[in-house]
Order: sequence, then structure tokens, then C-alpha cells
Amino acid sequence: MAVMDSRRMAARLASMARFRWGRLRGRRMPDEVIFAVTSACNARCDFCYYWEELNQEGPELTLEEIGRIARSMDPFRYLWITGGEPFLRGDLPEIVEVFARTNRISGVHIPTNGLLPDRIRASLERILTLAPGVFVKLLVPLLGPEELHDRLFGVPGAFRRVLSTIGWLGEMAQRRPNLSVSVNTVVSDRNILALEQLLELTKDLPIASHVASPIRGSPLDPGLRAPSPREWLKVSELLLEHNRRHHLGRWGGGLLRRWNVSRFLYQQNTFMRVLAGRGLPFLCAAGDTIAVIESQGEVRICELKERAANLRDYGLDFRRLWLSGSLDWERASVPGCSCTHACFISASLNARPRHFLKSLLTSRLSPPAAV
Ligand code: SF4
Ligand code: SF4
Repeated sequence: MAVMDSRRMAARLASMARFRWGRLRGRRMPDEVIFAVTSACNARCDFCYYWEELNQEGPELTLEEIGRIARSMDPFRYLWITGGEPFLRGDLPEIVEVFARTNRISGVHIPTNGLLPDRIRASLERILTLAPGVFVKLLVPLLGPEELHDRLFGVPGAFRRVLSTIGWLGEMAQRRPNLSVSVNTVVSDRNILALEQLLELTKDLPIASHVASPIRGSPLDPGLRAPSPREWLKVSELLLEHNRRHHLGRWGGGLLRRWNVSRFLYQQNTFMRVLAGRGLPFLCAAGDTIAVIESQGEVRICELKERAANLRDYGLDFRRLWLSGSLDWERASVPGCSCTHACFISASLNARPRHFLKSLLTSRLSPPAAV
């Protein structure tokens, strides 16, 4: 474990140095990419903020087109594979392999709804074989106890299927040092009171962590309400205690574990600040160090802003599109913008050295003064 920790830490630092060097030479290519590999989804979650983009007609990027896009990009650190449901794409392992080989990514994060255990298992085995040097992190959702989870997910029987997926995934992760599995709970007024009951269920699961994020964007059910900062303080306290007691052993060792706990605390403090209407404490990195590519080649600076261009109109040349000025209108809306999108908070911290350092030194939950 210690060897793996130091390798991960070294890969992270090397990748940051590589990115800084690129910036010093005047390039502004992203260091993290969110790639929605398919718009197909087999769920209908009340909290989904991407619901208008799901199950679209039209040709998805082929593996050959994805290869051309990858070759037009610099090396970068993290690939977030999203959808729809990413595992509905049969060539997902080959897609990961393309970015591992071409862009030397060090990590791939895959949020899955966990509804297709056989497909996930087969795909994951192949990803780990084709990209053995990449750290694979899976995020699987649990929204509450059985009846509540199925209702919020819009799929009868989802809870049992997801629980079984998490069980064998977690066991697989114990054998594979470059695989980790976490449970994620999207929290709204519909499930916040059930969180303690849910944590009781996940305490014995073989997972790396149980994390949560407030609903964001414009959810399918417009009646959902995000938690207040005071409510999020309670959520954060519960999660901190839960992870310390049951999962901390899988947060890495020594310095890496302290680093992960500090980042967790900093992220919770950022959520509370945004929920209190006080905005992000840093400039969001959307359109700067993080980009969004969608299944038919569309590009956005973040998942909550409009599509700005399509790679197919730029000969699948990402660099040409990214540096063209076509995204500048959307980029101009970033200063002063805030949301609780965890991927963008994380990417922004990685891109802002002062806040990155602060996040490593955070030692407690600090709600905004008015909470
Ligand atoms: S949140 Fe994910 S799983 Fe649920 S409907 Fe949206 S894309 Fe599908
Ligand atoms: S804060 Fe960043 S990720 Fe969130 S909506 Fe604004 S630009 Fe997008």
C-alpha cells in the first residue's frame, strides 16, 4: 500500500509539474477532461441536471474519432468518464486505453449508476488490463434506504442491484491496488433526513469512502431543494465521522491520508460557503484547466453552461478549437460564477496553487459565520 501511495503521489506531482511547465511556455491546454462518452442512460433520476441531454439521437464519436481528438491534445492528468451511463458504451475499455496511451493520464474517474453489474465487471476487468498504469476510481450512487433510493432513481429494484454491484466492486478493489470504489449520495430535501440510516447500511461495505454532494443545476424534478449551509454542516460532520470510523484505512497512508482528509474538509467548507450564497473562494477553472467533451463531439467549458462548439466542425482537432476563441464568450462568464460541482472544485484547487496549499492545511470544518 505504501509503495502504491508514494507512486500515486509522485505521479500526481510529476503531472502537476508537467502542466505548470506547459503553462509557463504559454499553452493553456486542459489538465482534466470530462468526457460524456454516451448520452444513453437506463435511469431517470429526479436529481439529474443533465436530463435534457440524455438519450439523444445522432452519431456518437467513434473510437477512431476519439483517437484523433486525443492525439490533438497534450498529456493531461485526469479523465472523468461520464454519460448517460458510461458502461452502456461497449468500447469503454478501448476509449480509456486511447487516453492512457496517447495522453498519459494518471487517473480515470467513472461515475456509474451501478445498474448493470455484469457489463460493469467485464468492462472494468478489460480497462484494468488495457490501462494497467492508470488509477481507476468508480463512484456508485446510493441515495437512501431501498424504497427511497428506487423512487429517487426512477428504477424499481435499483437499490438491490446497486448494492450488489458495490459489494463485488469493493472486493475487487481490495485485490487491485489501482482500483478504488466509493459511494456517492446526491443530497436534497428529499433524502437528507435519511442520510444517517443510509450510513448505517454502508458502514460495512468494502468501499474507500462514502461521499456526498448537494444537488446542482436544474434537476429533472424542479421541486427539489438544495440543503442549507447549516444542513450541510450536519451532513459533513456525519460523513467525516463515518469515514473516520469505517473507511479511513483506504484513504491511503501517512501524508497521503492527511492530504485526503484535508481536501475533504476543504471541499465541505467550500460547499457550505456556496450554499450560503458567498461564492467560491477561488476562480473556477472551467474553460481553463478543465474541459467538457460530449458524446457527439460538442464542447463546453463546464457541464452547467451552454455548448459552445463541436469538434467535428474543427476537424476533431481539440487544440484548434480550445485555442480558437470560440469558447471565450462562455469563459467570460466564469469570474464570479459559483456552484457545488465537486469535479470543478477539485480541478480549480489543482490549478490555483494558493488554494491548493490551503486545502492541504485545512484541519476542521468551518461553516460561514452566519450558519
Ligand atoms: S444522474 Fe446519471 S444515472 Fe441518473 S439519469 Fe442522470 S445520467 Fe442517468
Ligand atoms: S462555478 Fe464553474 S463549474 Fe460551476 S457553473 Fe460556474 S463555471 Fe461552471
